[in-house]
Amino acid sequence: MEGKIISTENKKPVVALYGLTCCAGCQLEILDLEDELLDILGKINLVQFRMGSSAKHPGPYDICFVEGSVTNEEELAQLKELRKKSKILIALGACATTGGVNALRNGRNIEELKQTVYSDASHLRTLPEILPLKEHVSIDYELQGCPISGEEFIELLTALLTGATPQEKNYAVCVECRIKENVCLMKEGELCLGPITRAGCGARCPSVGFPCEGCWGPVPQANVTSEIEMFSQKGASFDTVVRKFRMFNASSEDFMKELKRRLNIEWL
Ligand code: SF4
Ligand code: SF4
Ligand code: SF4
Repeated sequence: MEGKIISTENKKPVVALYGLTCCAGCQLEILDLEDELLDILGKINLVQFRMGSSAKHPGPYDICFVEGSVTNEEELAQLKELRKKSKILIALGACATTGGVNALRNGRNIEELKQTVYSDASHLRTLPEILPLKEHVSIDYELQGCPISGEEFIELLTALLTGATPQEKNYAVCVECRIKENVCLMKEGELCLGPITRAGCGARCPSVGFPCEGCWGPVPQANVTSEIEMFSQKGASFDTVVRKFRMFNASSEDFMKELKRRLNIEWL
């Protein structure tokens, strides 16, 4: 979808924000926008925003943001309903775009996990795997990150309101990192996912001395093979590499395909 104009016959577009399973940190990031949010609120009719108001609205919506992951059948039905009611559906944050930290449980024995975490888990109904929202319904736009960037939220909303084409950042975190003239942490022996992670955060972590953990998800055409080789040359064990890659991207085939191939070929 490119530059979709929201036709609301001169009325303010109806906007909703919903949360599925998550920590609600992305909605907090939006609430934290303060001045920019007040300005944008004058241009939209924000009818549903759990963090800001207890008001509810049945829809339909011109724009609907969905934060969090689908973890059970009820949430799956809710997401499908939101898709039907929304002209534009936007996945908000890593939980929604890659499965985020919720997907860490993928590939594990769910019954064992339930027993470990809860004494009585008989009431818990959960899907076997956490997937990006786009695997369940069609999604028009995605805002990556854990949490998202408030700046990217405003950029996307402004583009949608004006009919402009939202700009996708199809380059790696390294580009933003080099623009900031940071010293590369890889040269200092750190394991950084910046070369294979989509830009948008402004190289948040490397700019304060921490390696990237990949929360913006894979950059298009990520060279995962070369990243694994670089980590291996720095002495990282396969287990360390797998943990690093899975942190935010356990559901991401782009990141996992090469690891699975190596697991079959070299580690079994
Ligand atoms: S992406 Fe991160 S900050 Fe946003 S809801 Fe999920 S866990 Fe929370
Ligand atoms: S520190 Fe990480 S993000 Fe920055 S240039 Fe090095 S590899 Fe890329
Ligand atoms: S540097 Fe990496 S882990 Fe840190 S916010 Fe950016 S994408 Fe996420």
